[in-house]
Amino acid sequence: MASIGIVGAGIGGLTTALAIARTHCHEVTLYESTQVGAAVPAPLHLPPNATRVFKALGLEPQLLACAHHAQRQQVRTGKQGFQLAELPLGELALARYNAPYLSMPQDRLTQLLASALTSSTAQHNNHHCTDVNPEQGKVHFRNGQQAQHDLVVIADGANSELRQQLGFETQATSTSQQLTMGAIGNQADLPQKLPSGLNQWLGPNRWFTHWPLDEQGAVGFIAVSEPSTSQTHLAELFGRWHPLVAAVIEQASQLDSTPVQSWQPMSTWQQGKVILLGDAAHPLLPFTDQSAALAIEDAWVLSRMLEQQEPKPLEAASEYQRFRLRRCERMQHFAQAQSINLQTPDQQAIWKRNIKLSLGSRFLPEWALAKFDWLYGYDCVRGFH
Ligand SMILES: Cc1cc2nc3c(=O)[nH]c(=O)nc-3n(C[C@H](O)[C@H](O)[C@H](O)COP(=O)(O)OP(=O)(O)OC[C@H]3O[C@@H](n4cnc5c(N)ncnc54)[C@H](O)[C@@H]3O)c2cc1C
Repeated sequence: MASIGIVGAGIGGLTTALAIARTHCHEVTLYESTQVGAAVPAPLHLPPNATRVFKALGLEPQLLACAHHAQRQQVRTGKQGFQLAELPLGELALARYNAPYLSMPQDRLTQLLASALTSSTAQHNNHHCTDVNPEQGKVHFRNGQQAQHDLVVIADGANSELRQQLGFETQATSTSQQLTMGAIGNQADLPQKLPSGLNQWLGPNRWFTHWPLDEQGAVGFIAVSEPSTSQTHLAELFGRWHPLVAAVIEQASQLDSTPVQSWQPMSTWQQGKVILLGDAAHPLLPFTDQSAALAIEDAWVLSRMLEQQEPKPLEAASEYQRFRLRRCERMQHFAQAQSINLQTPDQQAIWKRNIKLSLGSRFLPEWALAKFDWLYGYDCVRGFH
């Protein structure tokens, strides 16, 4: 039985801890700088490639009880709100992918995952890891504690300090854009009803997406734009768009903004006894619904490799990397392409994109859905059982 240390109890770290613990092959210890289970209430998509992992972990009933079932995804023009395309995500997607498309606040998911951990997983709050020695598998914490493991899984998020400290080759490029996320408690307070389901609004150099967070009317959103100085300023930036967009921004109770950064894929995630996972390994631009899903897939694959390669955790980590690098690299390139396609200011490119979206969705819906098979149809559970 090997000893596995996991640094970071976000969605990636928590799912990894759960998946490894359920194999009963290894000892798992989870370290978190804040509190295990705590997270921002950011809106989160859970597409079928992620929800099927939770089903395999036996968590589907709990998830279904507290998530929103997205029925459709619509793409609209920013200014007029004209619907360009509709992708069915309800029964049709369920039948196609055999797993639901859900959405929920991020903290609700981390609480659910944390409550599913049993006492066999040691959990340490207020353990901010400052240093890792990849040769020895030693980890040091700001509070003066230290520990040693046969394998250290680094899942400390997109802006991973440890990835930088270990000298993994990746560099963030600033895009000069800002991502703002927020939520409104009840859309009944808006002057007009929002279109149902997940909605993406497209315009030159800006992008706005919103989706229901529960069955009671809460809505989460993400706005990508040039940097704004205040909530009013952000609403003004979208002022020439459909009035509903600015209304959602104005009514948000809490806004949180971060610069949008773009990362090139890394060629390796492993160094000695250290392996990267989740956003620390493959941070994504925010134009897909796949960041958390990739971390969840990573967690499942790593746990299966650790079970299959038992008692050789380093070989397991290499195998995990071998299986995951290409998919995650493809997703990072896809997110970059989406960033350009969804926000292009080029009038000709806008026409081409809009016509393709409209015709595909209206006349070839099966074809439109099939384009997402590589995302939602990816079945890491069946592939790595
Ligand atoms: C605004 C916003 C909206 C998003 N929306 C979506 C979405 O709709 N769909 C989607 O798929 N994804 C979304 N994401 C991304 C998603 O949250 C992450 O991809 C997902 O949570 C997986 O991340 P992770 O576990 O790898 O890292 P994180 O969730 O970032 O977790 C990292 C954890 O490590 C801890 N930590 C950090 N440093 C240390 C350290 N040195 N020592 C110990 N602990 C440490 C942190 O406290 C945190 O708990 C969104 C992200 C943001 C910011």
